[in-house]
Order: sequence, then structure tokens, then C-alpha cells
Amino acid sequence: MSAPANSANRAGRWWAPHAWLDGRWQDDVLLVSDSGGRWATVQAGVPCPPDAQKLAGPVLPGLVNAHSHAFQRAFAGLSERREHAGDDFWSWRDRMYRVAGAVTPDDVQAIATHLYRELLAGGYTHVCEFHYLQHQPDGAPHADPLAMSHALKAAAEDAGIGLTLLPVLYERAGFAQPALRQDQRRFHLDADGVWRAHQALAAQSHATFNAGVAVHSLRAAAPASVHRLAQLARGMDGPVHLHVAEQTAEVEDCLSATGRRPIEWLAAEGLLDPRWQLVHATHTVPAEIDAVARAGSAAVICPSTEANLGDGLADLPGWLDAGVGLAIGSDSHVTRSWTEELRWMEYGQRLLHRKRNLAAAPDLGQPATAARLWQLALDAGGRAAGQAAWGLRVGARADLLVIDTADAALVGVPGDHRLDALVFSSPGWPWREVMVAGRWVVQAHRARSTDPTAARFADVMDRLWRTDRP
Ligand code: ZN
Repeated sequence: MSAPANSANRAGRWWAPHAWLDGRWQDDVLLVSDSGGRWATVQAGVPCPPDAQKLAGPVLPGLVNAHSHAFQRAFAGLSERREHAGDDFWSWRDRMYRVAGAVTPDDVQAIATHLYRELLAGGYTHVCEFHYLQHQPDGAPHADPLAMSHALKAAAEDAGIGLTLLPVLYERAGFAQPALRQDQRRFHLDADGVWRAHQALAAQSHATFNAGVAVHSLRAAAPASVHRLAQLARGMDGPVHLHVAEQTAEVEDCLSATGRRPIEWLAAEGLLDPRWQLVHATHTVPAEIDAVARAGSAAVICPSTEANLGDGLADLPGWLDAGVGLAIGSDSHVTRSWTEELRWMEYGQRLLHRKRNLAAAPDLGQPATAARLWQLALDAGGRAAGQAAWGLRVGARADLLVIDTADAALVGVPGDHRLDALVFSSPGWPWREVMVAGRWVVQAHRARSTDPTAARFADVMDRLWRTDRP
């Protein structure tokens, strides 16, 4: 498949034999994007018009990766040896800080460009970057205070993935530690600083870039600061993300400091609304899930990272029963494939409950586990990225994935089980083509100009890990 001649203006006409529209597979689908890279026509049951490009396989919409710290890609696979008797989330965090303290904006751009190409190859067309690596290692601003933000934005544009950039409120080491640790100084941003960064970034919005805001966690931000940021952002279109209830220690510390559990506190303070994205939300009680549902907020589950860090398992049946949106994120990037995230979202529950297909809901007409989790992640992912519309529908960004039905994991699988096999039969490398905003960014399984990106990433890795290894 060659690049479309009209790629300069993102407009194009494509036709797919099958495509995922309105929560199900439909046949003979015409897809027309406008010059701004959004769907102008999405219509099933149409014979392939002579002026449309026939796609090579069935089509899924692109998925949002709703939680990323790009720099953490630089130690995937490098924190898997026990260095302490009690190796846990907190000892992992100390190792993560050693990387966070060592990278420059150029390094972050090299790491992120490599990562974002991997995410495109893994079926993600947009990523929400929870960005707290702001300053120089001693906490002094860069000459361009947004140098790190601009490095991430340049990486996304180079790779061709959509990006929602979320500057993060981060100002203390814990509920009872009002100052930052030495190795947290480069993360510091108060509520007004977050808002200034948001305003500067939002002014640069385009088809594949927008901005929201984030709160690192309730342990890293004082209550008055969380309220200050919420007040500044009260008319903002973009999303509000925060890490919450990832570790039981955080829940216990929040209870000690405020008398409430973290999500309980957010709800009681009247902070939650449909823009709020609760990342992890691992340790909850039913009343907290009900409060999130009433507020119209959503959760962002990061199954591979939560497993890797020993966080625990989210109450998936509880969230599903309450009808809360569930996006997915690859967070620390120990995997970069959404099929693997959805598989582990279900497998964790199977291991815990010793049953199968816990996410399926035959009573609601949704007997397929993969299809239910996929549709949830699709819809909630769009909202987590601040997109008014998402998926194969008029007005949404013209993103899609073309499935390679010759992939070893898909050969011979009936079409109505294709999603089941994508999620529950592995390994596979099923994305033949990937489009973002009307432009091809992966063709015939190849991202554009992968080699120099990998070489720059390898240089950064060599410098980071030549000596600093267990
Ligand atoms: Zn995170």
C-alpha cells in the first residue's frame, strides 16, 4: 500500500470489507476523512466505490493509551532482579527515580519517539502523557520551562501518534512530608504552574495534540492545592487525571491524614466530574465506586504495570456493575500492546475468583469478554484524552487499525471471534496498517523511519545502563 497522494491535507476515501462500528462488526464500510483528519462519512453496506482505496483487511478504530510515563520505557526489563529483601512498589520507585534524575530533554525525546512507535505498532493511536518530569535534576527550570513537554510533543509528532499532554501538580513527598525529597525536586509544579503550562500547551493544540491537567496523587498534593487547580480548570475542556488508591499504604496514609479513603475524599470534597480520570483506582470499597459512577468520572486501569509493581487487582466486577468507564494505560510500559492489557485485565480476575469470562455480561447481550472490555476501553479512552467523539463515527478523528488476517494467531478464526482471538490468543502482530488523523503511520507492519529512532534510543540506554546495573 502506498502513501495517499493527498496526505498533506489528511482527506481520503477508504473502504473496508468489515469494520467495528457502533459496538459490532459491520460489512462493506465506506470511510471518508475530511481535510482536518476527522471522519466525514462512516457508512456500512456500501459497495466499494471506484475512487475509494480498498483496505487490506478488517478495520478497528484506534485505541487511546490513557496513561503513560514515557521516560519509564528506559528501564522496562531492568528492574526485575531482587535488590532488597522487601522488593516492592516503593523500592521500584527508588530505581525509577534514578532514571528520572538522569535524563535530559533530548534523552526523553529519544525514549519517547521509540516508545510511541512501539505503541502505534501495538494498536494505540493516541497516548495520554502524565508528565511530571518537568525541570533540571536540581529543580531549576530549563531555559525553556516547557522543554520536557516540547520534547514529548516533538516525539509524538515524529512518530505520528496523537498526544494529550497532562502537566502534573506535584509538591510534596507524602501526606506527612510537606517538602519534596531531593530526588523529587525536578517534579515540582504547583497548581498555578500546572495551569500556566496547560495554557501554553493548549494554545498549541492541533488535530493530534491537546492538553489537560493532572494531580500526581493525594499524597503528592495538599488539599488546598488540589482545590486551587480544580478552580483554575473549572472551564477547561481537557481531562483531569490523577493516580489514586494504587497502593494500600497510600489508602492508609490518606485515612490517617484526612479521615477518608482517597476516592471517598475526592467525592466528599465535590471534586469529581466527568472530566476526572482515576488512574489505577485499585483499592476501593463499593461506596467509592458508586460515588465515581454518580459523578460520571472514569477509571484508567493499567493491568501489566499493576501486576509488575505488585499493586493488587482492581474490583473489575464492581466497576463493570456500576457502569463506570474503564480506559486502559500501559503506564510504565512493561508491555506496549493493548491486547495484552485487556487479556491481563480479565486474567487477574480469573486467577482471583477461579472462574472464567468474568467481564462478560450475557444478560446485557454481551457474552464476549474481549468485545465488552474493548468497547469500554475504546469509549472511555476517548474521554480520557478529552476527545468529544472517538471511534469510527462522524466527527471523530480519522484513526484506524487494519487487521492482518494472515497473522499466525488469526489464521482460520471465524470473523465474529476475531476480537476474542486478538485478546486471548497470543503472540501475534496483527496490525498491518495504522492510520492517525487520516495519515498512515504504519504500513505493511512498518512504522515510518524506525531505524534512526531505535539507534538514538540505544545510545540513551547505553549511557543510562553502562554502569547502573544490579
Ligand atoms: Zn502512573
